[in-house]
Amino acid sequence: MMSGADDYPALWLNDISRSYAQGETRLDILDSAELALWPGQSVALVAPSGAGKSTLLHIAGLLEKPDAGDVLIAGASTRNMDDGARASARRADIGFVYQFHHLLPEFTALENVVLPQMIAGLKRGEATRRASELLTYLGLGLRLQHRPAELSGGEQQRVAIARSVANGPRILLADEPTGNLDPRTADQVFGALTQLVRASNLAALIVTHNVEIAGRMDRRVTLREGKVVELE
Ligand code: ADP
Repeated sequence: MMSGADDYPALWLNDISRSYAQGETRLDILDSAELALWPGQSVALVAPSGAGKSTLLHIAGLLEKPDAGDVLIAGASTRNMDDGARASARRADIGFVYQFHHLLPEFTALENVVLPQMIAGLKRGEATRRASELLTYLGLGLRLQHRPAELSGGEQQRVAIARSVANGPRILLADEPTGNLDPRTADQVFGALTQLVRASNLAALIVTHNVEIAGRMDRRVTLREGKVVELE
């Protein structure tokens, strides 16, 4: 067998600790937390407010540094990277989806997915081809020229998903991506997301409070006393 990136977890949070000073006391939010995400796998992170979900997501996304431990991307340590290297790794390997879409209002759906690719150095023609392919795959083939305000909440969120994977990341991090949608729309958006995760061999870590949605993902984890714990 050939060895390749799939021999490693796409994302490995190895022995991660993070605490915050709270006056005289110290809050240990993450305490030797471990989590490995494999390519093609979707993992739901379900935990109460204040448990440390955002902290974990920020550390996984190289937006914040842990106090101890290492974040490995496809087997490569990020521990000794400077800010520039972290930013490059983030741009190359990690896509983000938020609860609110943060699309650029003055640009069309297509342009919103084209722009990050051009910023990454792709030519307009190639970026446009990929953007329209992605949007069509997500069921938005007839909405390419619509501005965000001319799209429904579910459609806006699907454009945000297309944008997040436009540059072909290994890892998708989503913070309540369907938290702002009605249950039926949430279901559709989530369906599109998981389809894309499998088709693109992405590793996805998705924070959600939606138990039904979490139930359809490959794994469910929670945070207990600063550790990542597998559910059922
Ligand atoms: P969740 O996303 O699960 O709601 P967070 O990761 O946002 O949890 O926060 C976990 C805990 O850490 C909370 O109690 C929060 O108040 C605390 N916290 C988060 N960020 C900071 C910070 N920058 N300074 C101090 N405390 C923080």
